[in-house]
Amino acid sequence: MRNPLGRPLVVGTGIAGLYVALRCRELGLRPTLITKSRLEEATTRYAQGGIATAVGPDDSPALHLKDTIRAGAGLVDVAAAKALTFEAPARIADLVRYGVPFDTVEGQIALGREAAHSRARILHAGGDATGLSIEETLKRRVLDAGIEVRERTALRGLKPNGRHGTRAIISDDRGRNAEESEDGPIVLATGGTGSLYRQSSNPSVATGEGVAIAFRAGALLTDMEFIQFHPTVFWREGAPRYLITEAVRGEGAVLRNEAGERFLVGQHRDAELAPRDIVSRAVDREIHRSGHPCVYLDATAIPRDRFFARFPSVCRFLATYGLDPSRDWIPVTPVAHYMIGGVTTDLEGRTSLPGLYAAGEVASTGVHGANRLASNSLLEGLVFGERVARQLVHPVAGRTLAPGRLVRLDWPAGAGRDDQRGAIDRVRDILWDDVGIVRTGGGLRSGLEELAELGRSTEPSRSNDLPGPVANAVLTASLVARAALTRTESRGAHYRSDFPERRPQWRLHIGLVRKEPSG
Ligand SMILES: Cc1cc2nc3c(=O)[nH]c(=O)nc-3n(C[C@H](O)[C@H](O)[C@H](O)COP(=O)(O)OP(=O)(O)OC[C@H]3O[C@@H](n4cnc5c(N)ncnc54)[C@H](O)[C@@H]3O)c2cc1C
Repeated sequence: MRNPLGRPLVVGTGIAGLYVALRCRELGLRPTLITKSRLEEATTRYAQGGIATAVGPDDSPALHLKDTIRAGAGLVDVAAAKALTFEAPARIADLVRYGVPFDTVEGQIALGREAAHSRARILHAGGDATGLSIEETLKRRVLDAGIEVRERTALRGLKPNGRHGTRAIISDDRGRNAEESEDGPIVLATGGTGSLYRQSSNPSVATGEGVAIAFRAGALLTDMEFIQFHPTVFWREGAPRYLITEAVRGEGAVLRNEAGERFLVGQHRDAELAPRDIVSRAVDREIHRSGHPCVYLDATAIPRDRFFARFPSVCRFLATYGLDPSRDWIPVTPVAHYMIGGVTTDLEGRTSLPGLYAAGEVASTGVHGANRLASNSLLEGLVFGERVARQLVHPVAGRTLAPGRLVRLDWPAGAGRDDQRGAIDRVRDILWDDVGIVRTGGGLRSGLEELAELGRSTEPSRSNDLPGPVANAVLTASLVARAALTRTESRGAHYRSDFPERRPQWRLHIGLVRKEPSG
Protein backbone atom coordinates (compact mmCIF):
# COMPACT_ATOMS: atom_id res chain seq x y z
CA MET A 1 0.00 0.00 0.00
CA ARG A 2 1.26 3.48 -0.83
CA ASN A 3 0.87 5.93 2.03
CA PRO A 4 -0.80 9.08 0.64
CA LEU A 5 1.25 11.01 3.19
CA GLY A 6 4.52 9.62 1.83
CA ARG A 7 7.14 7.30 3.30
CA PRO A 8 7.44 7.50 7.09
CA LEU A 9 10.83 8.52 8.49
CA VAL A 10 11.36 6.88 11.88
CA VAL A 11 14.11 8.44 13.99
CA GLY A 12 15.70 6.14 16.59
CA THR A 13 16.27 2.42 16.86
CA GLY A 14 15.27 1.56 20.44
CA ILE A 15 12.12 -0.43 21.16
CA ALA A 16 9.83 2.39 19.97
CA GLY A 17 11.56 3.10 16.65
CA LEU A 18 12.14 -0.55 15.72
CA TYR A 19 8.60 -1.52 16.60
CA VAL A 20 6.98 1.42 14.76
CA ALA A 21 9.06 0.64 11.66
CA LEU A 22 8.15 -3.05 11.76
CA ARG A 23 4.47 -2.42 12.24
CA CYS A 24 4.46 0.23 9.47
CA ARG A 25 6.00 -2.36 7.17
CA GLU A 26 3.42 -4.99 8.17
CA LEU A 27 0.65 -2.49 7.54
CA GLY A 28 1.95 -1.93 4.02
CA LEU A 29 4.08 1.22 4.36
CA ARG A 30 7.76 1.57 3.43
CA PRO A 31 9.43 3.28 6.38
CA THR A 32 13.02 4.47 6.56
CA LEU A 33 14.74 4.08 9.92
CA ILE A 34 17.63 6.31 10.97
CA THR A 35 19.84 6.39 14.04
CA LYS A 36 22.71 8.64 15.00
CA SER A 37 24.57 5.62 16.31
CA ARG A 38 24.69 1.93 15.39
CA LEU A 39 21.41 0.11 14.86
CA GLU A 40 21.51 -1.76 18.16
CA GLU A 41 22.88 1.04 20.38
CA ALA A 42 19.93 2.42 22.31
CA THR A 43 18.85 2.65 25.95
CA THR A 44 16.53 -0.26 25.25
CA ARG A 45 19.32 -2.84 25.21
CA TYR A 46 20.27 -1.94 28.82
CA ALA A 47 16.81 -2.56 30.29
CA GLN A 48 17.10 -5.39 32.78
CA GLY A 49 14.02 -5.85 34.94
CA GLY A 50 11.48 -6.46 32.21
CA ILE A 51 8.17 -5.36 30.84
CA ALA A 52 4.97 -5.01 32.86
CA THR A 53 1.81 -6.76 31.64
CA ALA A 54 -1.15 -8.20 33.52
CA VAL A 55 -1.12 -11.83 32.42
CA GLY A 56 -0.91 -13.65 35.79
CA PRO A 57 -3.92 -15.63 37.07
CA ASP A 58 -4.46 -13.20 39.97
CA ASP A 59 -3.97 -10.10 37.82
CA SER A 60 -5.95 -7.95 35.40
CA PRO A 61 -5.37 -4.85 33.23
CA ALA A 62 -7.67 -3.00 35.65
CA LEU A 63 -5.28 -3.72 38.53
CA HIS A 64 -2.29 -2.72 36.41
CA LEU A 65 -4.14 0.50 35.58
CA LYS A 66 -4.85 1.13 39.25
CA ASP A 67 -1.17 0.72 40.17
CA THR A 68 -0.08 2.98 37.30
CA ILE A 69 -2.50 5.70 38.41
CA ARG A 70 -1.45 5.40 42.05
CA ALA A 71 2.27 5.68 41.21
CA GLY A 72 1.64 8.76 39.03
CA ALA A 73 0.78 11.04 41.98
CA GLY A 74 -2.40 12.60 40.61
CA LEU A 75 -1.15 13.41 37.11
CA VAL A 76 -1.71 10.22 35.12
CA ASP A 77 -3.82 10.69 32.01
CA VAL A 78 -6.33 7.92 32.66
CA ALA A 79 -7.23 7.35 28.99
CA ALA A 80 -3.55 6.94 28.11
CA ALA A 81 -2.91 4.61 31.06
CA LYS A 82 -5.97 2.60 30.10
CA ALA A 83 -4.60 2.17 26.59
CA LEU A 84 -1.23 1.17 28.05
CA THR A 85 -2.51 -1.46 30.45
CA PHE A 86 -5.40 -2.91 28.44
CA GLU A 87 -3.47 -3.14 25.15
CA ALA A 88 -0.37 -4.57 26.86
CA PRO A 89 -1.20 -8.29 26.45
CA ALA A 90 -1.70 -7.88 22.69
CA ARG A 91 1.64 -6.09 22.33
CA ILE A 92 3.40 -8.82 24.32
CA ALA A 93 1.81 -11.33 21.95
CA ASP A 94 3.45 -9.35 19.10
CA LEU A 95 6.84 -9.66 20.79
CA VAL A 96 6.32 -13.40 21.21
CA ARG A 97 5.34 -13.62 17.54
CA TYR A 98 8.54 -11.80 16.59
CA GLY A 99 10.50 -14.32 18.68
CA VAL A 100 11.36 -12.63 21.98
CA PRO A 101 12.21 -15.59 24.26
CA PHE A 102 10.46 -14.60 27.49
CA ASP A 103 11.53 -16.72 30.47
CA THR A 104 9.17 -19.46 31.61
CA VAL A 105 8.69 -21.63 34.66
CA GLU A 106 7.16 -25.05 34.06
CA GLY A 107 5.81 -23.92 30.71
CA GLN A 108 4.21 -20.73 32.05
CA ILE A 109 5.54 -17.21 31.49
CA ALA A 110 7.68 -16.29 34.54
CA LEU A 111 6.50 -13.16 36.34
CA GLY A 112 8.69 -10.96 38.53
CA ARG A 113 7.70 -8.41 41.13
CA GLU A 114 8.79 -4.77 41.18
CA ALA A 115 8.19 -1.73 43.35
CA ALA A 116 4.65 -0.31 43.56
CA HIS A 117 3.14 -3.19 41.54
CA SER A 118 0.45 -4.96 43.56
CA ARG A 119 1.01 -8.19 41.59
CA ALA A 120 3.93 -10.10 40.11
CA ARG A 121 3.60 -8.95 36.47
CA ILE A 122 7.09 -8.28 35.09
CA LEU A 123 7.91 -10.48 32.09
CA HIS A 124 11.61 -10.93 31.51
CA ALA A 125 13.99 -12.60 29.09
CA GLY A 126 17.46 -14.04 29.65
CA GLY A 127 16.92 -13.42 33.38
CA ASP A 128 17.92 -9.78 33.51
CA ALA A 129 18.64 -9.23 29.79
CA THR A 130 15.13 -8.27 28.70
CA GLY A 131 16.05 -5.10 26.82
CA LEU A 132 18.94 -6.79 25.01
CA SER A 133 16.72 -9.65 23.97
CA ILE A 134 13.97 -7.33 22.68
CA GLU A 135 16.45 -5.06 20.88
CA GLU A 136 18.21 -7.97 19.17
CA THR A 137 14.96 -9.69 18.18
CA LEU A 138 13.37 -6.55 16.72
CA LYS A 139 16.61 -5.61 14.97
CA ARG A 140 16.73 -9.01 13.26
CA ARG A 141 13.10 -8.63 12.19
CA VAL A 142 13.72 -5.14 10.80
CA LEU A 143 16.64 -6.41 8.73
CA ASP A 144 14.68 -9.49 7.58
CA ALA A 145 11.79 -7.25 6.52
CA GLY A 146 14.15 -5.32 4.25
CA ILE A 147 13.42 -2.01 5.97
CA GLU A 148 15.84 0.70 4.87
CA VAL A 149 18.14 1.47 7.81
CA ARG A 150 20.61 4.33 7.86
CA GLU A 151 23.07 4.14 10.72
CA ARG A 152 25.19 7.10 11.88
CA THR A 153 22.57 9.41 10.44
CA ALA A 154 21.29 12.07 12.81
CA LEU A 155 18.18 14.18 12.91
CA ARG A 156 19.46 17.77 13.07
CA GLY A 157 16.35 19.87 12.68
CA LEU A 158 12.67 20.05 11.72
CA LYS A 159 11.01 22.59 9.47
CA PRO A 160 7.45 23.19 8.27
CA ASN A 161 6.50 21.56 4.98
CA GLY A 162 3.43 23.39 3.78
CA ARG A 163 0.39 23.52 6.05
CA HIS A 164 0.12 19.80 6.55
CA GLY A 165 3.57 18.51 7.18
CA THR A 166 7.00 18.72 8.69
CA ARG A 167 10.33 17.93 7.07
CA ALA A 168 13.40 16.56 8.78
CA ILE A 169 16.91 17.81 8.21
CA ILE A 170 19.32 14.96 8.64
CA SER A 171 23.09 14.67 8.34
CA ASP A 172 25.81 12.18 9.08
CA ASP A 173 26.76 11.84 12.74
CA ARG A 174 29.46 14.50 12.38
CA GLY A 175 27.01 17.09 11.11
CA ARG A 176 28.15 16.84 7.47
CA ASN A 177 26.17 16.17 4.29
CA ALA A 178 22.90 17.71 5.50
CA GLU A 179 19.82 16.78 3.46
CA GLU A 180 16.06 17.20 3.77
CA SER A 181 13.73 14.25 4.14
CA GLU A 182 11.19 13.59 1.42
CA ASP A 183 7.48 14.24 2.01
CA GLY A 184 6.05 11.94 4.64
CA PRO A 185 5.31 11.64 8.34
CA ILE A 186 8.18 11.80 10.81
CA VAL A 187 8.18 9.66 13.93
CA LEU A 188 10.46 10.77 16.76
CA ALA A 189 11.65 7.78 18.78
CA THR A 190 14.83 9.40 20.05
CA GLY A 191 14.62 8.32 23.71
CA GLY A 192 15.36 10.27 26.89
CA THR A 193 17.78 12.71 28.49
CA GLY A 194 19.45 10.53 31.16
CA SER A 195 23.06 10.90 30.05
CA LEU A 196 22.87 14.68 30.46
CA TYR A 197 23.14 14.09 34.22
CA ARG A 198 26.55 13.59 35.84
CA GLN A 199 25.28 10.46 37.57
CA SER A 200 23.18 8.40 35.21
CA SER A 201 22.17 4.86 34.34
CA ASN A 202 21.76 5.76 30.65
CA PRO A 203 24.08 5.14 27.70
CA SER A 204 25.67 8.13 25.94
CA VAL A 205 23.05 8.21 23.14
CA ALA A 206 20.40 9.40 25.65
CA THR A 207 20.96 13.14 25.20
CA GLY A 208 17.38 14.32 24.78
CA GLU A 209 18.12 15.74 21.32
CA GLY A 210 14.66 14.93 20.00
CA VAL A 211 13.15 17.17 22.68
CA ALA A 212 15.39 20.13 21.84
CA ILE A 213 14.88 19.74 18.10
CA ALA A 214 11.09 19.51 18.45
CA PHE A 215 11.00 22.51 20.80
CA ARG A 216 13.05 24.61 18.37
CA ALA A 217 10.52 23.81 15.65
CA GLY A 218 7.65 25.00 17.87
CA ALA A 219 6.35 21.69 19.28
CA LEU A 220 4.64 21.66 22.65
CA LEU A 221 6.49 19.85 25.48
CA THR A 222 4.97 18.76 28.78
CA ASP A 223 6.03 17.37 32.17
CA MET A 224 9.73 18.14 31.57
CA GLU A 225 10.33 18.65 35.30
CA PHE A 226 9.70 14.99 36.03
CA ILE A 227 13.00 13.14 35.79
CA GLN A 228 12.93 9.77 37.50
CA PHE A 229 15.94 8.79 39.59
CA HIS A 230 16.76 5.14 40.14
CA PRO A 231 17.81 4.32 43.70
CA THR A 232 20.10 1.35 43.19
CA VAL A 233 22.97 1.77 40.77
CA PHE A 234 26.33 0.18 41.53
CA TRP A 235 28.68 2.52 43.31
CA ARG A 236 32.44 2.32 43.30
CA GLU A 237 34.93 5.08 42.57
CA GLY A 238 35.72 4.98 38.85
CA ALA A 239 33.33 2.09 38.10
CA PRO A 240 30.56 2.43 35.48
CA ARG A 241 27.14 3.26 36.90
CA TYR A 242 25.66 -0.19 36.37
CA LEU A 243 22.00 -0.58 37.29
CA ILE A 244 21.01 -3.19 39.85
CA THR A 245 17.46 -3.81 38.77
CA GLU A 246 14.53 -3.17 41.08
CA ALA A 247 13.54 -6.78 40.49
CA VAL A 248 16.35 -7.70 42.92
CA ARG A 249 14.36 -5.94 45.65
CA GLY A 250 11.26 -7.62 44.25
CA GLU A 251 12.96 -10.96 44.98
CA GLY A 252 13.59 -9.92 48.59
CA ALA A 253 16.79 -7.83 48.74
CA VAL A 254 16.74 -4.99 51.30
CA LEU A 255 18.60 -1.69 51.65
CA ARG A 256 20.93 -1.11 54.57
CA ASN A 257 23.11 1.77 55.66
CA GLU A 258 26.75 1.38 56.63
CA ALA A 259 25.69 0.38 60.15
CA GLY A 260 23.50 -2.40 58.73
CA GLU A 261 20.16 -0.71 59.54
CA ARG A 262 17.20 -1.00 57.17
CA PHE A 263 16.61 2.73 56.99
CA LEU A 264 13.48 2.48 54.78
CA VAL A 265 11.52 0.55 57.37
CA GLY A 266 9.22 3.03 59.09
CA GLN A 267 9.49 5.57 56.24
CA HIS A 268 6.98 3.82 53.97
CA ARG A 269 4.72 0.83 54.49
CA ASP A 270 6.23 -0.93 51.46
CA ALA A 271 9.80 -0.16 52.69
CA GLU A 272 12.25 -1.08 49.87
CA LEU A 273 9.33 -1.68 47.48
CA ALA A 274 7.95 1.85 47.90
CA PRO A 275 7.74 3.95 44.70
CA ARG A 276 11.09 4.89 43.19
CA ASP A 277 10.99 8.56 44.15
CA ILE A 278 10.53 7.68 47.82
CA VAL A 279 13.36 5.12 47.79
CA SER A 280 15.69 7.43 45.82
CA ARG A 281 15.16 10.32 48.22
CA ALA A 282 15.57 8.06 51.25
CA VAL A 283 18.89 6.76 49.87
CA ASP A 284 20.02 10.30 48.99
CA ARG A 285 19.13 11.50 52.53
CA GLU A 286 20.94 8.58 54.09
CA ILE A 287 24.08 9.28 52.03
CA HIS A 288 24.01 12.96 53.04
CA ARG A 289 23.30 12.14 56.69
CA SER A 290 26.04 9.55 57.03
CA GLY A 291 28.69 11.14 54.83
CA HIS A 292 29.26 7.63 53.46
CA PRO A 293 29.30 7.60 49.63
CA CYS A 294 26.74 4.79 49.20
CA VAL A 295 24.24 2.50 50.88
CA TYR A 296 24.05 -1.27 50.46
CA LEU A 297 21.70 -3.69 48.79
CA ASP A 298 21.63 -6.84 50.86
CA ALA A 299 20.52 -9.80 48.72
CA THR A 300 22.10 -12.45 50.90
CA ALA A 301 18.69 -13.84 51.93
CA ILE A 302 17.91 -14.82 48.32
CA PRO A 303 19.06 -18.41 47.65
CA ARG A 304 22.25 -18.33 45.58
CA ASP A 305 20.92 -20.53 42.75
CA ARG A 306 17.79 -18.46 42.41
CA PHE A 307 19.73 -15.18 42.30
CA PHE A 308 22.19 -16.49 39.72
CA ALA A 309 19.42 -17.90 37.51
CA ARG A 310 17.30 -14.74 37.66
CA PHE A 311 20.08 -12.11 37.43
CA PRO A 312 22.96 -13.63 35.46
CA SER A 313 24.17 -10.31 33.98
CA VAL A 314 24.16 -8.60 37.39
CA CYS A 315 26.17 -11.52 38.80
CA ARG A 316 28.70 -11.36 35.96
CA PHE A 317 29.11 -7.63 36.49
CA LEU A 318 29.54 -7.95 40.27
CA ALA A 319 32.05 -10.76 39.83
CA THR A 320 34.36 -8.35 37.96
CA TYR A 321 34.50 -6.37 41.24
CA GLY A 322 35.03 -9.50 43.32
CA LEU A 323 31.50 -9.42 44.76
CA ASP A 324 29.18 -12.39 45.26
CA PRO A 325 25.61 -11.21 46.06
CA SER A 326 24.86 -14.31 48.10
CA ARG A 327 27.65 -13.27 50.47
CA ASP A 328 28.44 -9.56 49.92
CA TRP A 329 26.31 -6.46 50.21
CA ILE A 330 26.21 -4.47 46.96
CA PRO A 331 27.21 -0.78 47.23
CA VAL A 332 24.57 1.40 45.51
CA THR A 333 23.65 5.04 44.94
CA PRO A 334 20.79 6.86 43.14
CA VAL A 335 21.23 8.24 39.59
CA ALA A 336 19.15 9.93 36.88
CA HIS A 337 17.27 7.25 34.99
CA TYR A 338 14.19 8.17 32.98
CA MET A 339 12.58 11.22 31.33
CA ILE A 340 8.89 11.13 32.21
CA GLY A 341 7.87 14.17 30.13
CA GLY A 342 8.87 15.08 26.60
CA VAL A 343 7.20 16.00 23.32
CA THR A 344 3.45 16.17 23.98
CA THR A 345 1.32 13.69 22.07
CA ASP A 346 -2.29 12.65 21.92
CA LEU A 347 -3.33 9.01 22.23
CA GLU A 348 -2.32 8.33 18.62
CA GLY A 349 1.17 9.75 19.02
CA ARG A 350 0.42 13.02 17.20
CA THR A 351 2.43 16.02 18.39
CA SER A 352 1.33 19.65 18.07
CA LEU A 353 3.22 19.92 14.73
CA PRO A 354 1.54 18.61 11.58
CA GLY A 355 3.05 15.36 10.34
CA LEU A 356 5.24 14.93 13.42
CA TYR A 357 4.62 11.95 15.71
CA ALA A 358 6.47 10.73 18.80
CA ALA A 359 6.67 7.39 20.60
CA GLY A 360 8.66 5.91 23.47
CA GLU A 361 10.61 7.83 26.07
CA VAL A 362 10.77 11.03 24.00
CA ALA A 363 6.97 11.28 24.01
CA SER A 364 4.86 12.75 26.77
CA THR A 365 1.62 10.78 26.61
CA GLY A 366 0.68 11.49 30.24
CA VAL A 367 0.78 7.78 30.94
CA HIS A 368 3.28 8.04 33.81
CA GLY A 369 1.86 11.13 35.48
CA ALA A 370 4.49 12.50 37.87
CA ASN A 371 6.18 9.17 38.48
CA ARG A 372 6.65 6.18 36.20
CA LEU A 373 5.68 2.78 37.51
CA ALA A 374 8.62 0.39 37.07
CA SER A 375 8.75 -1.53 33.77
CA ASN A 376 6.00 0.52 32.14
CA SER A 377 8.38 2.25 29.71
CA LEU A 378 9.32 -0.56 27.34
CA LEU A 379 5.59 -1.20 27.23
CA GLU A 380 4.84 2.44 26.42
CA GLY A 381 7.11 2.21 23.37
CA LEU A 382 5.11 -0.76 22.09
CA VAL A 383 1.57 0.38 22.89
CA PHE A 384 1.96 3.90 21.55
CA GLY A 385 4.25 2.71 18.77
CA GLU A 386 1.39 0.52 17.56
CA ARG A 387 -1.00 3.45 17.80
CA VAL A 388 1.33 5.64 15.73
CA ALA A 389 1.71 2.96 13.04
CA ARG A 390 -2.09 2.52 12.80
CA GLN A 391 -2.59 6.26 12.74
CA LEU A 392 -0.27 6.55 9.74
CA VAL A 393 -2.44 4.09 7.83
CA HIS A 394 -5.91 4.93 9.13
CA PRO A 395 -5.91 8.45 10.62
CA VAL A 396 -8.54 9.16 13.27
CA ALA A 397 -9.36 12.48 14.91
CA GLY A 398 -7.30 13.37 17.96
CA ARG A 399 -7.62 15.32 21.18
CA THR A 400 -6.55 18.90 21.67
CA LEU A 401 -3.21 19.11 23.41
CA ALA A 402 -3.66 21.65 26.17
CA PRO A 403 -1.52 21.71 29.32
CA GLY A 404 -2.94 23.33 32.47
CA ARG A 405 -0.12 25.88 32.55
CA LEU A 406 1.72 27.04 29.44
CA VAL A 407 5.13 28.69 29.69
CA ARG A 408 6.39 30.48 26.57
CA LEU A 409 10.15 30.58 26.39
CA ASP A 410 12.62 32.65 24.52
CA TRP A 411 15.86 30.97 23.46
CA PRO A 412 18.09 33.54 21.81
CA ALA A 413 20.87 33.09 19.26
CA GLY A 414 24.45 32.84 20.50
CA ALA A 415 28.04 32.95 19.38
CA GLY A 416 27.84 29.67 17.51
CA ARG A 417 30.66 27.68 19.08
CA ASP A 418 28.94 24.34 19.37
CA ASP A 419 32.15 22.44 20.01
CA GLN A 420 32.92 24.51 23.08
CA ARG A 421 35.04 22.29 25.25
CA GLY A 422 33.74 21.45 28.64
CA ALA A 423 30.18 22.65 27.93
CA ILE A 424 28.68 19.16 28.14
CA ASP A 425 30.48 18.43 31.40
CA ARG A 426 29.14 21.69 32.78
CA VAL A 427 25.59 20.77 31.71
CA ARG A 428 25.93 17.41 33.45
CA ASP A 429 27.17 19.04 36.66
CA ILE A 430 24.42 21.69 36.65
CA LEU A 431 21.67 19.13 36.14
CA TRP A 432 22.97 16.85 38.86
CA ASP A 433 23.72 19.60 41.40
CA ASP A 434 20.82 22.00 40.77
CA VAL A 435 18.10 19.98 39.02
CA GLY A 436 18.63 16.66 40.79
CA ILE A 437 16.85 14.52 43.36
CA VAL A 438 16.25 17.44 45.76
CA ARG A 439 15.72 20.84 44.17
CA THR A 440 15.39 24.40 45.50
CA GLY A 441 14.26 27.65 43.87
CA GLY A 442 17.72 29.17 44.46
CA GLY A 443 19.57 26.22 42.92
CA LEU A 444 17.24 26.09 39.92
CA ARG A 445 17.60 29.82 39.28
CA SER A 446 21.38 29.74 39.45
CA GLY A 447 21.44 26.60 37.24
CA LEU A 448 19.24 28.35 34.70
CA GLU A 449 21.46 31.43 34.67
CA GLU A 450 24.52 29.33 34.01
CA LEU A 451 22.74 27.37 31.28
CA ALA A 452 21.64 30.63 29.64
CA GLU A 453 25.27 31.73 29.62
CA LEU A 454 26.32 28.42 28.07
CA GLY A 455 23.51 28.86 25.54
CA ARG A 456 24.91 32.25 24.55
CA SER A 457 28.19 30.65 23.54
CA THR A 458 26.91 27.39 22.04
CA GLU A 459 23.82 28.48 20.10
CA PRO A 460 24.32 29.32 16.41
CA SER A 461 24.57 33.03 15.72
CA ARG A 462 22.28 32.89 12.67
CA SER A 463 18.77 31.55 12.88
CA ASN A 464 19.12 29.36 9.78
CA ASP A 465 22.28 27.61 11.02
CA LEU A 466 21.60 24.20 12.51
CA PRO A 467 22.36 23.86 16.22
CA GLY A 468 24.65 20.96 17.07
CA PRO A 469 24.46 18.37 19.85
CA VAL A 470 26.10 20.61 22.47
CA ALA A 471 23.64 23.46 21.90
CA ASN A 472 20.81 20.92 22.01
CA ALA A 473 22.07 19.51 25.32
CA VAL A 474 22.20 22.98 26.86
CA LEU A 475 18.67 23.71 25.64
CA THR A 476 17.25 20.40 26.88
CA ALA A 477 18.80 20.95 30.31
CA SER A 478 17.30 24.44 30.44
CA LEU A 479 13.87 23.08 29.61
CA VAL A 480 14.03 20.60 32.50
CA ALA A 481 15.23 23.33 34.88
CA ARG A 482 12.63 25.84 33.72
CA ALA A 483 9.75 23.42 34.26
CA ALA A 484 11.18 22.44 37.66
CA LEU A 485 11.37 26.09 38.73
CA THR A 486 7.79 26.69 37.61
CA ARG A 487 6.36 23.83 39.69
CA THR A 488 6.38 25.24 43.22
CA GLU A 489 5.41 22.03 44.97
CA SER A 490 6.68 18.47 45.40
CA ARG A 491 4.96 15.73 43.45
CA GLY A 492 6.14 12.32 42.28
CA ALA A 493 9.67 12.46 40.95
CA HIS A 494 9.89 16.26 41.36
CA TYR A 495 10.93 17.24 44.89
CA ARG A 496 11.48 20.84 46.05
CA SER A 497 12.82 21.20 49.58
CA ASP A 498 11.47 24.79 49.59
CA PHE A 499 7.99 23.46 48.69
CA PRO A 500 7.99 19.97 50.24
CA GLU A 501 4.20 19.43 50.07
CA ARG A 502 1.92 18.44 47.23
CA ARG A 503 -0.36 21.39 46.39
CA PRO A 504 -3.81 20.87 44.84
CA GLN A 505 -3.48 23.89 42.53
CA TRP A 506 -0.56 22.13 40.82
CA ARG A 507 -2.55 19.10 39.81
CA LEU A 508 -1.93 20.05 36.20
CA HIS A 509 0.64 19.58 33.45
CA ILE A 510 3.17 22.28 32.71
CA GLY A 511 3.65 22.90 29.00
CA LEU A 512 6.66 24.59 27.42
CA VAL A 513 6.61 26.15 23.99
CA ARG A 514 8.99 28.39 22.10
CA LYS A 515 7.97 32.03 21.91
CA GLU A 516 8.70 32.38 18.22
CA PRO A 517 8.95 29.08 16.38
CA SER A 518 11.83 29.24 13.94
CA GLY A 519 11.16 28.63 10.28
C1 LIG B 1 19.89 0.67 32.76
C2 LIG B 1 18.43 0.81 32.39
C3 LIG B 1 17.53 -0.17 32.76
C4 LIG B 1 16.18 -0.06 32.41
N1 LIG B 1 15.32 -1.06 32.74
C5 LIG B 1 14.04 -0.99 32.30
C6 LIG B 1 13.15 -2.08 32.52
O1 LIG B 1 13.52 -3.10 33.09
N2 LIG B 1 11.88 -1.96 32.06
C7 LIG B 1 11.42 -0.86 31.40
O2 LIG B 1 10.25 -0.80 31.00
N3 LIG B 1 12.26 0.18 31.18
C8 LIG B 1 13.55 0.14 31.60
N4 LIG B 1 14.38 1.18 31.35
C9 LIG B 1 13.89 2.30 30.53
C10 LIG B 1 13.78 1.87 29.08
O3 LIG B 1 14.91 1.10 28.74
C11 LIG B 1 13.69 3.05 28.14
O4 LIG B 1 12.72 3.96 28.57
C12 LIG B 1 13.31 2.58 26.73
O5 LIG B 1 14.21 1.59 26.30
C13 LIG B 1 13.34 3.76 25.76
O6 LIG B 1 13.13 3.24 24.46
P1 LIG B 1 13.05 4.24 23.24
O7 LIG B 1 12.87 3.41 22.03
O8 LIG B 1 12.07 5.30 23.51
O9 LIG B 1 14.49 4.98 23.21
P2 LIG B 1 15.96 4.38 23.15
O10 LIG B 1 16.02 2.94 23.38
O11 LIG B 1 16.81 5.26 24.00
O12 LIG B 1 16.39 4.68 21.64
C14 LIG B 1 16.60 5.99 21.19
C15 LIG B 1 17.19 5.94 19.81
O13 LIG B 1 17.21 7.24 19.23
C16 LIG B 1 18.47 7.48 18.62
N5 LIG B 1 18.66 8.93 18.56
C17 LIG B 1 18.66 9.84 19.57
N6 LIG B 1 18.81 11.08 19.08
C18 LIG B 1 18.90 10.96 17.73
C19 LIG B 1 19.07 11.90 16.67
N7 LIG B 1 19.18 13.23 16.87
N8 LIG B 1 19.13 11.43 15.40
C20 LIG B 1 19.03 10.08 15.14
N9 LIG B 1 18.89 9.16 16.12
C21 LIG B 1 18.81 9.60 17.39
C22 LIG B 1 19.44 6.74 19.52
O14 LIG B 1 20.67 6.52 18.90
C23 LIG B 1 18.63 5.45 19.76
O15 LIG B 1 18.75 4.60 18.63
C24 LIG B 1 15.73 1.09 31.70
C25 LIG B 1 16.64 2.08 31.35
C26 LIG B 1 17.99 1.95 31.69
C27 LIG B 1 18.95 3.04 31.32
